[in-house]
Amino acid sequence: MPNGSNAMSSSPASPAVPPTWTEQDTESVSCCVCGADGVSVHRLPPFGVVRCPVCELVFVSPRLTSSALQRLYDEPAYFEGGVYGPRARWSPAMALQRIWTAGRLAEIARLRPPPARLLEIGSGYGLFLAAARDAGFAVRGVELSRTGVEQTRRRLGVDVFAGQLAEAPIGEADVVCFWDTLEHVPDPLAFLREVRGRLARDGVFALSVPYISSCPAVLLGTNWWTLKPEQHLWQLTPTTLRLVAVRAGLVISRMVVSPIRRANAGRIDSLVAIGRAIPDGRS
Ligand SMILES: [Zn+2]
Repeated sequence: MPNGSNAMSSSPASPAVPPTWTEQDTESVSCCVCGADGVSVHRLPPFGVVRCPVCELVFVSPRLTSSALQRLYDEPAYFEGGVYGPRARWSPAMALQRIWTAGRLAEIARLRPPPARLLEIGSGYGLFLAAARDAGFAVRGVELSRTGVEQTRRRLGVDVFAGQLAEAPIGEADVVCFWDTLEHVPDPLAFLREVRGRLARDGVFALSVPYISSCPAVLLGTNWWTLKPEQHLWQLTPTTLRLVAVRAGLVISRMVVSPIRRANAGRIDSLVAIGRAIPDGRS
C-alpha cells in the first residue's frame, strides 16, 4: 500500500470523491470482524460510510471494487502527489517525515533494538527503510507501487519486493511496520493475521493509522480531509483497532495519539500503535 497517502494529515487534500467513479465501480461489503452489514454514518455517493452494529467498526460500503482500486493505485499522480517524491525533499512535510521516522525508530528500538530484522509493508519510496538501515536494523520491504520499488532500489540501495505480502519470499521478522496502510487494505483482520504470521517469537509490530474518533473527524464529518472513501476503506478508533488486533492474535501495548510526540508529530487525526503477538500456547 502507498505509504505517503496520509502523510500530511494536517493539510487539506484533494476532494474526497473524484467525479469519475460510478455505481458500476463499487461493491457492498460487510464487517470483517462480525460479518454484519453496517448502518449508515455518511452518504457520499457512489460510496457509503457505515458502522457495524455489533463491534462499531466503521468502514466504506459500497466501496471501490479491487479492479477499480488497482486503476487508482496505478495512476502515477497517486504517488507523485505525496510528500515522498524527490521534489519534496526540503518541504515542511519532509521535515515532519524525518521527525516521525526518528520517533518511530526510537519507539521500536526500545522494544527490539538493532540489529533486529525489520520488515516494512508498504514501504513507499523507502525513506523509512533507509533510516532504519542507517540505525542498524536489517531491513526488508514490500511495496505494490512499481514507482516506489524502483525509487527505493535505485536511490537508496534498499531491496524491496514488488507485489503483495502473501507472495513475498521473505521469512519472519523481529519487527513488522506498516505506516498509513491498514485503512487501505481490503480486509484488516486478514492483513493483521498475516502480520502475526510473519512475526518472530517476541516480535514487535508498529503501525500508524488515521482514526475517526479524532477531533477533526468528529467536528468536520464528511468534510474531514482523511475520510477519502475511495481509498480509506476502514476507519478505526483506538477501541476498534485494539479489537481487530486481538482477533488477529496481536495485542497493542502502546498508543501514541498526541500530535506533539515525535512519533506522531503534527498529526492531529492519526495515531501510532505498537504491540506484540499474543502467545498461542503451543510453544
Ligand atoms: Zn463488526
